Amino acid sequence: MMLLTRKMIEIRSILQKVGQTGVLQLPSIVVIGSQSSGKSSVLEAIVGHEFLPKGSNMVTRRPIELTLINTPDSPVEYGEFPALGLGRISDFTQIQRTLTDLNLAIPEADCVSDDPIQLNIYSPTVPDLSLIDLPGYIQISAHDQPEELKGKIAALCDKYIQAPNVILAISAADVDLANSTALRASRRVDPRGERTIGVITKMDLVDPERGSAILKDRNYPLRLGYVGVVCRTPTSKLGFLGSKNVNITSAISKNENAYFGAHPEFSSPDNTLTVGTQNLRKKLMTVLEQTMALSLQSTSDAIHQELEEATYEFKVQYNDRPLTAETYLAESLDKFKHSFKDFTEHFGRPQVRQLLKHELDQQVLDLLASRYWNKPLDLDKSRAGRLDERPLSELPNADSESLFWHRRLDASTSSLTKLGVGRLATNVVANALTQHMDRLISESTFKEHPFAKKAIQEASNAILNERFYSTSDQVENCIKPYKFEIEVDDREWTQSRENSQQLLREELKACEEALKTLKTSIGGKKLGQVMGFVDKLRTGEQVEMREGTEAFGFSQPLLQKGREGVFLRDRADLIKMRMLALKNKQCANKANKYHCPEIFMDVVAEKLTSTAVLFLNVELLSEYYYNFPRELDNRLGRHLSLAQVEAFAREDPKIRKHIDLQQRKELLELALEKMESLMALEKSKKAAQEPR
Ligand code: GDP
Repeated sequence: MMLLTRKMIEIRSILQKVGQTGVLQLPSIVVIGSQSSGKSSVLEAIVGHEFLPKGSNMVTRRPIELTLINTPDSPVEYGEFPALGLGRISDFTQIQRTLTDLNLAIPEADCVSDDPIQLNIYSPTVPDLSLIDLPGYIQISAHDQPEELKGKIAALCDKYIQAPNVILAISAADVDLANSTALRASRRVDPRGERTIGVITKMDLVDPERGSAILKDRNYPLRLGYVGVVCRTPTSKLGFLGSKNVNITSAISKNENAYFGAHPEFSSPDNTLTVGTQNLRKKLMTVLEQTMALSLQSTSDAIHQELEEATYEFKVQYNDRPLTAETYLAESLDKFKHSFKDFTEHFGRPQVRQLLKHELDQQVLDLLASRYWNKPLDLDKSRAGRLDERPLSELPNADSESLFWHRRLDASTSSLTKLGVGRLATNVVANALTQHMDRLISESTFKEHPFAKKAIQEASNAILNERFYSTSDQVENCIKPYKFEIEVDDREWTQSRENSQQLLREELKACEEALKTLKTSIGGKKLGQVMGFVDKLRTGEQVEMREGTEAFGFSQPLLQKGREGVFLRDRADLIKMRMLALKNKQCANKANKYHCPEIFMDVVAEKLTSTAVLFLNVELLSEYYYNFPRELDNRLGRHLSLAQVEAFAREDPKIRKHIDLQQRKELLELALEKMESLMALEKSKKAAQEPR
C-alpha cells in the first residue's frame, strides 16, 4: 500500500476545507486527451465502474478532481461529492447523473469552467490516487458547439498540466502519435518527458506489430514510459455484464490478458513493454507516491507560511480569543437569559398594575366623555328639562334621589365592568411582554441573527398563546362580582379622588399640548380666525357662504383644523370645570358619588385593576417567567444540530469571519502536524534503507 499517497490525500482533504488557495495544491495526476481518445474508458477501468458523463456530444465542462481511496477492510463501494453534501452514493449511475447535471449547469456561453468538481470514490479495489479529469481536446468543433470552446479547453488544460502535476497523456493507437494533441500539449510543458506518462488506448484496433512499435516510440521519449491498454467497457461493448453497477475491473483485465497474451509482440524477451490497465494502475501509484515524496518539503513550507499568516491575523484581529459556533451560541444564549432574568426582576406586579390602570384610565376617560362631557354646554341648556338629557352644569347639584343621575352612573359603571376586562388586561400584559422581548433581542447579540430572533419570538408567542384564553377567562371570572355591586369605603374614595384629579390634570395637559401643536402648525392668528368662524357656525350666526367656493377663504383642511381647535379648547374648559368640581368639599364625601362620577369610576377601575393583576401575575407572568428560559433551550439549545448551530453563528458577518479564520488556523495546524509526522516517517525510512 502506498502510505505516503494515502496520507497526502488525507492532508489534501484537510487543505480543501481550508479553501482553495493555489499555493496549497498537492501534486495530482492530470488526465488529458482528445475527444474519443478513450480517456473516459481508461479512468473507468481504473475506478472499475462506468461513472463519467457519456452521450452524443457530451463535452466535459468542468475539471473533475477524482480522489480514489482504497478501503481494504470494507467491501462497499461508493462515491461522495464533498462539496455537495449528498452523502454516500453507492449507485454509480447516480454518480454519472450527478456529474452530467453539474456539467449541464455550466451555461453554453461560458463553454467551460475551471471550478473543479470534487468526487471521492471509496472502494477496496481502487488504488489510493488523486486524478484530475480534464475536458477532452476537440479537433473540429461540431456545428452546435461555440467556436471558442476549442481554445478555452486548451487553456484550461494548460493551467493544470503545470509542474508538479504528473501528466497522463492519452492517445489512441489508431491515430498517428505525431498527431496526438495530448502528447503535443505535454511536450510543451514537459519537453524532456520527465513527468508524463503516455497511455496508448485501443491497442486492439491496430495490428500487434504496429502496436508494439508505438510503445517503443523514440520520437518523444518519456522517462515514465508508455503503457498500452484495451479498455472497452464490457457493459457497452461486450454486453455480458447485466448491471451497470457491477465492478468491471476484472472483466477488463481478463480481456486485456487474453489480447496481449495472444500476441508475442508484447512479451518481448527484454520485457520492456508495459501493457494492461493493472500495470497502468501500479505505475500511477508508484509515480504519484514518488512525486508526493518530492513535494513534501515545498508543501510543508507552503502550509507553514499560510499558517503563520493566519496566526498573525488571528492575534491582531481577535487577540487570540477562541470562538466556535457552539461557544458563540452558548455565550449568546447565556447572556440573553441573563438579561431576561434581569427583566423579570423589573417587570412584576407593580409594573403590570400600572400598565393596566393606565389602560383602564383611558377607558374611563372615554366613558366619561361619551356619557357626561361630550354634549356641548349650550346645546345642553337648550334641551334642559328632558328626562334623558341634563346639562352638565347641573351635575354639581345632582339630586341624589334623581333616577336620571342614578341611571347614568350605573350605565357608565357597567360599561366599564362589562368591557371584557379579562381579554383587555391579558392583551395589555401579553403585548407588553412581546414588546419587551423585542427590546431584549434588539439589545442582544441575537439582533444580527434572523434565525435566533425568530426562535425567541416563537418561544415567547408559544407560551403567551397557550396561556391567553385561560388567563383571560380567569380574570373575567374574578371580576364578575363587580358587575353587580360596587362597595366603596372612605379610604378608597379618598384615594380615587386624588387619582381622578391627577388623571384630569394629565388629560388637560394633553389637550393644551395638542392645541399648542395645532397653533404652531398653522399659526396662532390663523387658528384664532378659523376657530372664530367655526364658533359662529355653531351658534347659528349668519355667515355668508357662497356655493362652490371655500368659506371665507378657509380651505377644507383649515376648517378641519379649526374644528379640532374648538374641540380641544372646549374639552380643556370642561376639564378645568370638572377639576374645580372635584376639589369641592362635596366631592370629599362618597355619599355624593352622583356629583362626581369621575371619582366613582376611578374606584371601579382600581378594583378591576387590583383583581386582574392578582390573576395575571399567577396565570400569566409567573408561568411565562418559568417557561420562557426552558422554551428557549428547546429551540436554541441542545436540540439544534451542529449544522444549524454553524448556520446560526455564520449569520453574523463579523462572527463568520472570526470563526472562519479560527477554523482555517486549526485546519492548517492539523495539516502541518500530519505533514511533519509524515516527513519524519519518510526520513526514518530513508535512514533505515541507507547502508551503514
Ligand atoms: P473519450 O471521449 O476520450 O472519453 O473516449 P471514450 O472512453 O468515451 O471512448 C471513445 C470510444 O472508444 C468509445 O466508443 C469506447 O467504447 C471506445 N474505446 C475506448 N477504449 C477502447 C479500446 O481500448 N478498444 C476499442 N476497440 N474501443 C475503445
